[in-house]
Amino acid sequence: MIFNKHLENIKTYEAGKPIELVVREYGIETKDIVKLASNENPLGCSPKVVEAVSKILTKMALYPDDSMVNLKNALSARYDVDSQNVIIGSGSDQVIEFLIHAKAHNGSKILMNSITFAMYEIYAKHVGADVIRTSSQEHDLDEFYKLYQEQKPEIIFICTPNNPTGDALDAQKIYDFLQKIDNDTLVVIDAAYMEYAIIKDAKKEINVKELIQKHSNVIYLGTFSKAYGLGGMRVGYGIADTKIIKELYKLRPPFNITTLSLEAATLALGDEEFVKKSVALNLEQMKRYEKFAKEQKIDIINSYTNFVTLLLGSERNSTKIANQLLQKGMIVRDLSSYNINAIRVTIGTDEQNSRFFKLVTQFL
Ligand SMILES: *Cc1c(COP(=O)(O)O)cnc(C)c1O
Repeated sequence: MIFNKHLENIKTYEAGKPIELVVREYGIETKDIVKLASNENPLGCSPKVVEAVSKILTKMALYPDDSMVNLKNALSARYDVDSQNVIIGSGSDQVIEFLIHAKAHNGSKILMNSITFAMYEIYAKHVGADVIRTSSQEHDLDEFYKLYQEQKPEIIFICTPNNPTGDALDAQKIYDFLQKIDNDTLVVIDAAYMEYAIIKDAKKEINVKELIQKHSNVIYLGTFSKAYGLGGMRVGYGIADTKIIKELYKLRPPFNITTLSLEAATLALGDEEFVKKSVALNLEQMKRYEKFAKEQKIDIINSYTNFVTLLLGSERNSTKIANQLLQKGMIVRDLSSYNINAIRVTIGTDEQNSRFFKLVTQFL
């Protein structure tokens, strides 16, 4: 059978290995497996969310509230924008899919960092768009601007903090960059890890209200999958000028967020204490990774997220080390598919991190 030719050169996204797979393949017991591969919150989610969701389980028989009024209101209050500036997706991934389909087409150019979130390229290929990448490892907005002038892309992706490297841009640099971009170029600011960045350095925080007031061509993305600990519920969002949101709505399938997920995300947003606790633990444990890397003479990228990227240099091989760890029940992310010899480790609990240090020392 002949399929859509755009799909021919798409490599299927490789998600972090689930615990169940390691149980099956290596015969390790679930309790002995530590998953530090998908940047999930090691504290789980807010207990208030678990309690509230468990009370509404029978609602799963009915279709969800497709207006998503509670969650939209909660998000618009959180960012001080109108609820018409908000779109909710099944993960911010889905919002990325919408906006690429809304703006790009066969032959469009989409500009992004040399190393960045893998899904941008996959969605770009759905529509036959060409991906243009910078050369520098961290976001260099001067280089972005140069390529913008040369290539006239339809869409520019800025991932801050960036996955899988962990570096983040100062908000002011982004504001200065946006001044120079014409109104018909869609700029996406993917801020999936922003909650972690702002307690490490307040200069990374983006004023979303001002951003979308000043720039009708910018969309800001957030997710409940990381600091809020709701990866399994699949909820993310985009905030932008209503003209953008209106177009994205044309692509949205009905009932794209489940009743339980809507409830979970709304309550999670209300429990600021839980997020505070999560980001504080993360920062404290990140210092242990920094110390460990220094002792082991491993280069790491200064991280503003809940993961640390260990650059392994020429003597060590990331795929080999990731596999050795896997056989011991420690799941981390090998970054060889991003063409860097590095592993990405999600910052876990004190105990999980100690276990990582102990294991990885054996293989280095
Ligand atoms: C995790 C992540 C997302 C989206 O995650 P969802 O679970 O789909 O909300 C988006 N961008 C980046 C950079 C991420 O790391």
